[in-house]
Amino acid sequence: MKGFAMLTIGKTGWIEKDVPTCGPSDAICKPIALAPCTSDVHTVWAGALGDRHDMILGHEAVGEVVEVGTLVKDFKVGDKVLISAITPDWNSLQAQGGFPMHSGGMLAGWKFSNFKDGVFGEFFHVNDADGNLAHLPDGMDLGAACMISDMIPTGFHGCELAEVEFGDNVAVIGIGPVGLMSVAAAAIRGAAHIYAVGSRKNCADLAKEFGATEIINYREGDIVEQIMEKTHGAGVDKVIVAGGDNGTFDQAIRMLKPGGVIGNVNYLGEGDWINIPRGDWGCGMGHKKINGGLMPGGRLRSKKLARLIQTNRIHPEKLITHTFHGLECVDQALMLMKDKPKDLIKPLVLIN
Ligand code: NDP
Ligand code: ZN
Repeated sequence: MKGFAMLTIGKTGWIEKDVPTCGPSDAICKPIALAPCTSDVHTVWAGALGDRHDMILGHEAVGEVVEVGTLVKDFKVGDKVLISAITPDWNSLQAQGGFPMHSGGMLAGWKFSNFKDGVFGEFFHVNDADGNLAHLPDGMDLGAACMISDMIPTGFHGCELAEVEFGDNVAVIGIGPVGLMSVAAAAIRGAAHIYAVGSRKNCADLAKEFGATEIINYREGDIVEQIMEKTHGAGVDKVIVAGGDNGTFDQAIRMLKPGGVIGNVNYLGEGDWINIPRGDWGCGMGHKKINGGLMPGGRLRSKKLARLIQTNRIHPEKLITHTFHGLECVDQALMLMKDKPKDLIKPLVLIN
């Protein structure tokens, strides 16, 4: 089979590989819809996971089951399925302890295009099929369905990590596809003011549509000052970090009220250390809580997020700004994600 792969750090290309083999609890799928991710860009061009050779990329897909293992109970050949980007081993101690994303070691629930080939191939392997697949609801838009792999669960996890409650004033730093879904999540959880931080107009417009009450442009001045001004010096109750760099993390702490919570889903890719501003952290006594996490993955989460689409509570199809047709276009879609033209939010590749 052919697949689009990371050849080494900074290099991608099409390669030939054997079709993956199916273990007793696993499934083999072929893609119906695929999406490249900012994480694929970090993997290839920032070497975020270290070097990888001839590893097929991609972790966001809707698929069709072509083979199932003998122990798989709920899926059969021909089923159309939602596939979570994070595919934990649900029998692991870490999963039993409530942290499936770390099954097998820190971040090791992330297997596609990390520890094994990803979904940008003619076929791909899904471990623990009963735990990690969910049936594609009839009639669901494929773009929306594909966002259930990663963009919705990650954006929503930012909101979970920030422990957003009704009436909270929330800052969402970064309104790419992940942050936009965090805005939608905060609105569903009943946030009051939602300050969405970004600079591109299309993202700002969609953030407003998804529930942001104010847009803060980080290119037009310090975001801490802007938020402090809008909150009359009080700061926000919760911060969701879904973009920016190490300095942004520092800003998140500074704009947070004592007793507040930061939920970080952003990949912090540079340097050995992250600074915590001592004074703004109350010299260690400010009750400013920091949570950072990889999203959990799994079938139940996919099913619940699908329900939010079916009931028109969220509209992730609006993230899709560019649509390609055919597996052979996945490289173009990934390059678009790398170059991030101003009108891009998220590309989608439909296979047929
Ligand atoms: P995008 O690059 O599409 O969006 C990033 C956002 O951050 C944009 O709105 C951008 O603004 C904004 N931004 C950039 N620089 C700054 C800054 N200095 N201050 C404030 N805002 C800034 O990324 P995605 O939405 O695709 O992904 C977001 C992050 O989530 C990435 O780091 C990704 O790796 C990570 N991720 C984490 C996962 C997890 O499970 N934890 C899973 C998937 C992704 P603009 O472009 O408008 O200028
Ligand atoms: Zn992703």
